[in-house]
Amino acid sequence: MDRLVTPAFAPEELRRLLKTSLPVQEGSALIRHILTDSRSLLSPSDTLFIAITTDSGDGHRYIPQLYARGVRSFVVEHLPEQVTKGEWSGNWYVVPSSVRALQCIASAHRARFPQLQCIGITGSNGKTIVKELLYQLLEPTRAVVRSPRSYNSQIGVPLSVLGIEATDELAILEAGISQPHEMAPLREVIQPSIGLFTCLGSAHQENFVSLEEKLREKLQLFTACHTTVYGIDDPLVARLMREACPEGEHLTWSRKDRTATLYVEREEARGDKTNLQLRALGKDYQLTLPFTDAGYVEDCLVALTLITQLAPELLSQPERWEGLHSVAMRLEVKDGIAGNTLINDSYSCDLQSLSIALDFLRRRATATAMRPVLLLSDIEGSGLGDQVLYGEVASLIRSYGVQELIAVGEHISSQLEGLEGVQVITFPTTQALLGSQVLSQIQGSCLLIKGARRFAFEEVYRRLSIQEHQTVLDIDLQAVVHNLNHYRALLHPQHPIICMIKADGYGTGAFELARTLQEHRVEYLAVAVADEGRELREKGIRTHLMIMNPELRSAETLFAHMLEPEVYSFQLLEGLRAKARALGVQDFPIHIKVDSGMHRLGFDYEDMERLGRELAACSELRVCTVFSHLATADEETKADYVHHQYEQFVQSCDALERTLGYRPRRHLLNTAGIERYPQYALDMARLGIGLYGFSPTARAGVEPIARFSTVILQVKDLKAGEYIGCGCRGQLARDSRVAVLPVGYADGFSRRLSRGAYAVMIRGHLCPTIGNVCMDACMVDVTDVPGVLVGDEAILFGCEGLPLEDVAEVCDTIPYEILTGISSRVQRRYWRE
Ligand SMILES: *Cc1c(COP(=O)(O)O)cnc(C)c1O
Repeated sequence: MDRLVTPAFAPEELRRLLKTSLPVQEGSALIRHILTDSRSLLSPSDTLFIAITTDSGDGHRYIPQLYARGVRSFVVEHLPEQVTKGEWSGNWYVVPSSVRALQCIASAHRARFPQLQCIGITGSNGKTIVKELLYQLLEPTRAVVRSPRSYNSQIGVPLSVLGIEATDELAILEAGISQPHEMAPLREVIQPSIGLFTCLGSAHQENFVSLEEKLREKLQLFTACHTTVYGIDDPLVARLMREACPEGEHLTWSRKDRTATLYVEREEARGDKTNLQLRALGKDYQLTLPFTDAGYVEDCLVALTLITQLAPELLSQPERWEGLHSVAMRLEVKDGIAGNTLINDSYSCDLQSLSIALDFLRRRATATAMRPVLLLSDIEGSGLGDQVLYGEVASLIRSYGVQELIAVGEHISSQLEGLEGVQVITFPTTQALLGSQVLSQIQGSCLLIKGARRFAFEEVYRRLSIQEHQTVLDIDLQAVVHNLNHYRALLHPQHPIICMIKADGYGTGAFELARTLQEHRVEYLAVAVADEGRELREKGIRTHLMIMNPELRSAETLFAHMLEPEVYSFQLLEGLRAKARALGVQDFPIHIKVDSGMHRLGFDYEDMERLGRELAACSELRVCTVFSHLATADEETKADYVHHQYEQFVQSCDALERTLGYRPRRHLLNTAGIERYPQYALDMARLGIGLYGFSPTARAGVEPIARFSTVILQVKDLKAGEYIGCGCRGQLARDSRVAVLPVGYADGFSRRLSRGAYAVMIRGHLCPTIGNVCMDACMVDVTDVPGVLVGDEAILFGCEGLPLEDVAEVCDTIPYEILTGISSRVQRRYWRE
């Protein structure tokens, strides 16, 4: 981060503040920029770089590079040897802790503005939201400075404070801590006059002995405040706030106590709004908030409580409350059309947030070697005249290296039209921009989109976005249930089934599947690794869970969440047993894997006697089932091998039981096995791909469950002979109409489907691919589809006439690979009755 500080710091003043002994050089420049991140460097000659050491990095590493770029002032914890050898000159401030040094400079800066009203916000959650809500409410009538985003840490707070200027009337700053003794230094930096406490939660509990200790630490922020603001329905908060600030004024809110400053009499959620009936300042008020989220509403209540004192007139302006908008917590970055990257920051539009967003834009564009483009509307409510305001915008645009500006609005257009060194396009309104061709001509750029509310840039953003949510995998859970019952019926309706939902349910989403299967009382679910199982347990899946590839490392997770491991070797057995013993676990169910001819994992027939003996003497583990896997069940010509495996398996089970002394349940069949060899069903069966709608032996009766689709992003008319796509691998044989689809091999739409090898379905017509499938997009021929439009659905597979199997065949693989290969960025949508 680069912070412009005004007034500037004299080198001599810094030397005194930081108590360092090295003399400063005569004639050194005043320090106007404080830099903590070398990538943000703007102005070397008057920058002070603070080399901060944290757990995640050491700022000292960037010194040579910054020195080479002309920086001559540094705060360091140790001097580079170039300085001790006399090779480098400049001002070097050696301090025991560079974080403390940053705080010390910020605290001195804060002290320059003793009249500033300063709100310090802390609490477990909602700090950023309360800050942004207050900003939205107060900013139209006052000069407000606030922490950028959620800069609330030991480093973020001083950086926020360094942004305070003489013209500011009010500062809203947040402070967050994660350990004891962190708040006092933040108080010194913020020096709040008003203290606001959001709420007490259990976040960051780990480093504190108790909730009370954590709260006391947080309240350190408020010891010198003349006013504090908080809710009193939590008795601990109410008591400790009284103790922390016995003198000052207490502004409180409550749902129970009518004597609170703000009493919430009634609260009712209606659609996406919340209606409030409030009592404050001896009067009743009715306000509507455009949120229903409980946390958000409470954050508003804290803000409201402060407003009763700071700007009571707002209580009689319901439109101000209803017009609040929710706070995007960070810059949203995503892929746009035409190879663009989009940075969406249209929730706030002021100078301060502009410089932060531009800094982000520049880094992102540099890192990806893209052209930095800024789409900016008029900035409203800054209190500055147009000339001054857009003069500052112009200098920001220049210093952050923006190459192209798309300006929307009368004011910005007239001021920045002739901005030198930058390509500028202006529009009076957003409508005019949308009506032009400009948006569709931007390519390979990194675009920062920043507009005041009134300009409604949402539509611009939508136009430029790849509508990833429009590439979806629809999962029909009803069909899953149908398939389950279909396979149950092939054995007998009550036959116990283990449903395989490994690899995130063969790519369709393990949790939704698990929930559905649990409802339909399958006996077991099976996943590959312990973490998958833990996640399902944490989301409330109670069905027995088998873990197919357990690792010894995860033994504790297994025992803690009742995840039953497959055991396939003596080594694993011994390890599990030792862990079980150490943890005092008894009788934990395991599943023994036998190698009956697949030669992947498993015990051999020869191991059985010893295995049974060891397990008989093992009170920690109990064999629940014994199983093996058929290698050739789906291949018609290899039935002999199946019979052989079955014989082998049964003999192994018998051998095991002789020494084990009891009879675990046995299972052998997978989907293909159930279809072809129901006579080998034994006690249970393991159903995989059949559940997902694919019959390995092409039996009728299973239903497809997955439908992969997207929508047309663009339609183009091209002449015969033109080339299409990456590497110009497609050339048009005729004049053609081509549709661009936002799906590529990174989504799981394989590159093998390129150049006509496959066709997708649009308006009931099969449309072959042209050119190569790209990473995020592909092109199809829609010349013969009448009336085709942007936004039309394109089915990639999973409808009548376009089964999953076709894709697998073209890709020369099996449906399993296609399904599991659909990227997690493709949204899954679940359908049930
Ligand atoms: C994945 C798996 C199955 C399911 O196989 P399908 O061919 O999908 O029915 C069965 N048993 C084991 C051990 C598996 O790993």
